[in-house]
Amino acid sequence: MSTTAHLCATCGFGPKASQCIACGAPFAETPAQLCSSCGFGPAAQQCVKCRKPFANIAARLCRTCGFGPRAQACIKCGRMF
Ligand SMILES: [Zn+2]
Ligand SMILES: [Zn+2]
Ligand SMILES: [Zn+2]
Repeated sequence: MSTTAHLCATCGFGPKASQCIACGAPFAETPAQLCSSCGFGPAAQQCVKCRKPFANIAARLCRTCGFGPRAQACIKCGRMF
């Protein structure tokens, strides 16, 4: 089971919303995921960059960082789903 990772309004502002959260490449499209323990409860709404609560902008990975099996791994702890 996985949860979508989020960015807060500051970390996901404007063009940053489409930047890869792993390497900063622009036009990232793959949704970043959290495993069920890293995304459990309120942690699901924490900004993955600065840990601020109530983040609501979808975090993304570029094609390289989100390629193949990496799209199925938790972006915090690296565990596969
Ligand atoms: Zn990337
Ligand atoms: Zn943030
Ligand atoms: Zn995890």
